[in-house]
Amino acid sequence: MMLGRPEGLVLAVLYLGCSILVWGEQDAGYRGKPDYKGRYTIFEVQPKSNHDVDFLQKLMLSQAELDFWVEPRRTEDAVTFTAPVELRTEVRQKLEAANLAYKEEDDIRDVEEELQPVFESQVRRNFQDTTFNLDRFNNLEAINAYLRDLSSRCPSDINCRLYSIGKSFEGRDIFVFKISKRKTGRRKGFWIDATIHAREWLTTATSLKILTHLVNRTDPTAKRLVDSYNWFVAPVLNPDGYAFTFSKRLWRKNRHAAEDGGNCVGVDLNRNFDFRWGTEGVSHNACSTTYCGSQGASEPEVVAIQREARRLGRSLIGWVTLHSYGRMWVFPYGGTLNHDGKTCLRTDDYDDLMEVAEAAANAVERTYDTYWVRGTTCEVVYANSGSSLGYVKDVAGVKYSYGLELRGDGFIVDASEIQPSFVEVWNGLVAMCDTIDYQQQQQRNRAPPRARGRLDRGAIIASLLLRLFGRGKDTDEE
Ligand SMILES: [Zn+2]
Repeated sequence: MMLGRPEGLVLAVLYLGCSILVWGEQDAGYRGKPDYKGRYTIFEVQPKSNHDVDFLQKLMLSQAELDFWVEPRRTEDAVTFTAPVELRTEVRQKLEAANLAYKEEDDIRDVEEELQPVFESQVRRNFQDTTFNLDRFNNLEAINAYLRDLSSRCPSDINCRLYSIGKSFEGRDIFVFKISKRKTGRRKGFWIDATIHAREWLTTATSLKILTHLVNRTDPTAKRLVDSYNWFVAPVLNPDGYAFTFSKRLWRKNRHAAEDGGNCVGVDLNRNFDFRWGTEGVSHNACSTTYCGSQGASEPEVVAIQREARRLGRSLIGWVTLHSYGRMWVFPYGGTLNHDGKTCLRTDDYDDLMEVAEAAANAVERTYDTYWVRGTTCEVVYANSGSSLGYVKDVAGVKYSYGLELRGDGFIVDASEIQPSFVEVWNGLVAMCDTIDYQQQQQRNRAPPRARGRLDRGAIIASLLLRLFGRGKDTDEE
C-alpha cells in the first residue's frame, strides 16, 4: 500500500493542495489563480488493531464532512482523509480519545507553487480543450465525440455500436460501446465500465485505451479476444459527476439535487444498487461522500446500469468495474452474515472467482513488479452494501464479477500513469479471460457423459433450428 511509504503523505498533500485550488475555483469562479476559500486539512492515521479499524469506519460513516481517500481496511493499511479546517480540533480530539496515532498536514500554502503546473496541465487545459488524446485526461464532450468517431471508423470485419443505456440525473446519455465479430453465432460477452465514481479519472482513461485496443486489434491477443467474445465498454457511468470534476476535481457522487433544498448534493452510485441496499458500510446522511440514496436504485444512472445488466444477463461471462486507487482485484460479496459487520459472506463459487482473481492480479503484478491485493470486497476492503458487484453477480447472473482498484497514490495522477495503467490492466484482463476459459473447459469435461450427450444433442437441435430460422440469440438481443 503506497501510504506505507514515507512519501505517501507528501504526495497526498500535493493532491489535497490541488483539490483546494479547484475547490477555490468552484466557489469563486475560475479566475486562473487559486482561491483558498474553504481550506482542508489532511489526516493520515495508522490503525493498529481491528478495534482501531472499526473506530475509523464508524468515523467515516458518521461524520459526513470527512472525505476518505483511503478507507479503513486492515490494520496494516494507513487511512487518509480530509477535514475542513474548522473541524480540525474536533477530529484531533476524537483520534486522541481513541488513542490513535496520526499525522496531520495543514501547511498547504507551501505547496502552492508546486501545484500550479499540475492544475494548469490537468484541469484548466482539459476544461477548455475538446481535442481528444488517449494519453491525457479528456473532458466529457471530447470523450463522447471520440466514441462516435471510433464507432464510425470501425474496421470492416467487426461491428461497433455506440448506444445509450439511459440518462443521468441531469439528462446526459450513459454510453456503452459494443464490439462484436461479424457473422458469428451465439457468443459470451465481457463488460468493462469506469467512472462510476467521478473523481477516479485514471479509470476513464484506462477504459478508453482498452476499448481502442480492442477495436484496433494491433496485437494477436486482442484479435483473439475479439474473435472469441463480444465486448461492452462503458467509459463514463457517471457523466454528471465526471463533468462536475472539471470544476470540483474531487467530486465522487452523481449530481442529484438536494431534495430538501439544502446544500448536500449527490448520491454515491456504487452504494445505490438494489442488492442488500443500505445495510452496511454506507451513510444515510446526504452530505456524506458515501450517501447511499433514499432507497435502492433511487438514481437514474443505477436504474439504467441495472436494466442493462439484467438485459445482457447470463449472456455475459464477465463484468469488470474500474475504480481507483488501491491496487486490488476484488469480487463479491461486500456484505457480512446478518450484517454483523464481521463474518464476510462468500459466494458458492468462491474458489472459481478467487482462482481467476489470483491469475489476473499475478499478471498485473508481473508487468511492473507491483503488489495487488485480491479477495472478496468484504475481506480485503470493508463490509459494504449496494455496490454493483453483488447486483451483477446475484441478480443479473454474471458469474465472474470483478472490481479493480487501479494504480496511483491519489485521485489526481499524472497523465504519464495512463499508459502503464492500461498495460498492466490489459495483462490482467487477458489472464482473467484465459483462466475463465480454462475453468469453463474443465466444467464441460467434468459433466457426466450422459449429460454431455444431452448437451450435445441440444446443441445439434439448436444448430438445426438456427439454420432453419436464421441467427440465434446473441449477447445483445436488440
Ligand atoms: Zn471508486
